[in-house]
Amino acid sequence: MAGILSAIKLREAGYGDFTVYEKADRLGGTWRENTYPGLSCDVPSHLYCYSFALNPEWSHLLSPGAEIQAYFEGVARDYDVNSSVRFGDEVVRCEFGEGRWRIATAAGHHDVVDVVIAATGVLHHPKYPDIAGLDSFGGAMFHSARWDHSVPVEGARVGIIGTGSTAVQIVSAIVDQTDSLTLFQRTAQWIMPVLNPAYSSEELEAFRREPQLLEELHAHLSELFDMFSGAVVDAGSAGAKYIEDSCLANLEDNVADPVLREKLRPDYRAACKRLIVSADFYEAIGRPNAEVVTEAITGVEPRGVRTADGRLHELDILVLATGFQVDAFVRPTSVIGRGGVRLDDTWADRPEAYLSISVPRFPNFFMLNGPNGPVGNFSLIGVAELQIAYILQLVERIRAGDATEIAATGDALAAFEAARIEAAKKTVWATGCRSWYLDDRGIPAAWPWPFARFRAEMAEPKWEDYELRG
Ligand code: NAP
Repeated sequence: MAGILSAIKLREAGYGDFTVYEKADRLGGTWRENTYPGLSCDVPSHLYCYSFALNPEWSHLLSPGAEIQAYFEGVARDYDVNSSVRFGDEVVRCEFGEGRWRIATAAGHHDVVDVVIAATGVLHHPKYPDIAGLDSFGGAMFHSARWDHSVPVEGARVGIIGTGSTAVQIVSAIVDQTDSLTLFQRTAQWIMPVLNPAYSSEELEAFRREPQLLEELHAHLSELFDMFSGAVVDAGSAGAKYIEDSCLANLEDNVADPVLREKLRPDYRAACKRLIVSADFYEAIGRPNAEVVTEAITGVEPRGVRTADGRLHELDILVLATGFQVDAFVRPTSVIGRGGVRLDDTWADRPEAYLSISVPRFPNFFMLNGPNGPVGNFSLIGVAELQIAYILQLVERIRAGDATEIAATGDALAAFEAARIEAAKKTVWATGCRSWYLDDRGIPAAWPWPFARFRAEMAEPKWEDYELRG
């Protein structure tokens, strides 16, 4: 998503000499990698698209993953991005020296460039659970982001570890096809009930006829998500209360079985973990062939999953919906900045970047959706569009000859981090739960202010926060 965007915006700004490195043989990032049943985006499609490539054809409010993948590939074709892409060319090393970056790829290519834009995504490297005997499982086992479509779920005894957005979508999609579905729940989740209607043929016709409607819808959804962003960064806000009330009513009203309801009742505040949206999860998990197991997993055995009560849950398929290594960002690519400083060492404790974009001593290296950016149920496309416009202002100074090297100063990063950490304490993410938003210290690793502030920060760089050399 962000790489395609970069190519389009670079060309639009008059840059002809750029390369998009793509390790796979297709574009699409997370939408290429994730193909699990039920995959969709919880950001409405008319917002989860480029603002300059609105799409009248979205089938649903929250369209399926395959449609989103086709959208990105379609935009790439329309904007002739593919001609700038090197497919199957994984960047393994970027080293800065004498004002330029030397890039090495796994395929053996070596290039020298002025600027590197890392559009490498956030939720990319699967996180496998550390469970005894995992590899001894005798059935089919795969991570949700590596779904094995050669294994039919029809009539199978399926186990799913995890209760995040991914697991919830999978449960709703497959429960009726399985013989049995066992959901291993370590932590119950709050679920926001959001219906997902298909657009009618009349609506689709209207979208095709009147592009103005798409723009209004995009703007309207943008406003709604701005409101949402204001709610989650202020745990005491009326918006946070509204989210809580909706989730609670969803649980009370839609889980009839009192035993199941208590199993599914979280003991922390709604939206503390990444908020899940689903109109049908409770119905699905209430099916007679579904079971929520809350006993801790003690191990995996050839025939299934053993839990702390001694029970063996026999399975044919085990799905690991256990999330991603969220602090990797551009890594494992080896990035070496000014004076031989390694990004791995700079980020040994945790990843940090000024405004999520620039790391001191790594000149002309800029990130899209980098560390501590806005991640709380926003459209990451909207985030990346603001970021690329900002980055292009930095790059413009190089093109204009004002400097050959630009990086945030250490002081700017330190001040940003201090303010960010202070603000993070007030967010709903810090109200006491385990989630992938939290860093190793338990501090939310995310933009802790309303989205409007992010938009304002991205409008123009504060040049005093950057060191320009050369
Ligand atoms: P996730 O939110 O990180 O959830 C991972 C789940 O696995 C959690 O329930 C976690 O339990 C569980 N888990 C991990 N290790 C475990 C272990 N050893 N034993 C038992 N349970 C274990 O991952 P995800 O569901 O793939 O979602 C990741 C993110 O991707 C989402 O938050 C969202 O940003 C994005 N996403 C979005 C959509 C969408 O609709 N847009 C769909 C899917 C994913 P705990 O809760 O106890 O930690």
